[in-house]
Amino acid sequence: MAVLDICKYPDPVLLQKAEPIKDMDVSLQRLIQDMIDTMYLAPGIGLAANQVGRPIRLIVFDVTPKDQDRNPSVIINPEIVEAEGEQTLEEGCLSVPDYYSDVKRSAKVLVRGLDAEGKPVEICGEGILATVLQHEIDHLDGVLFIERISALKRALYKKRVQKKLKKQEE
Ligand SMILES: [Zn+2]
Repeated sequence: MAVLDICKYPDPVLLQKAEPIKDMDVSLQRLIQDMIDTMYLAPGIGLAANQVGRPIRLIVFDVTPKDQDRNPSVIINPEIVEAEGEQTLEEGCLSVPDYYSDVKRSAKVLVRGLDAEGKPVEICGEGILATVLQHEIDHLDGVLFIERISALKRALYKKRVQKKLKKQEE
């Protein structure tokens, strides 16, 4: 088991559009396993590859309730092919520490991509799963959830981060 470092805002890798994956090689399998381990340890319910410094289109997630057995999912090159409805849920992000905010997204999404073996996979998500899928796929497009909140809230958050970074420099 290897636990990877999670990149934090404003790390530029988080704002970069991730590249599609073409080779399903051994190193990809290792990365998938490491990302799953990292997600559980954090703990989080989703992780995109660029959050661990790899700008490639790969997400892992598990929205299983804590009292049930773990059931991790992997999607390579995920794409939202259908979206409907609207919901607002509170979101947080392992790359945006100590910050939570309501985010309005589609209530139901259909996502297509490949599983860990490279076979086509289709996942239909509602509720929290719909939000997690959209949040993680946003990461692959270089978009953090703080880009989907009000400009005022975002400005306040960015100010807080600048202050913290300045303090660390001193
Ligand atoms: Zn996130």
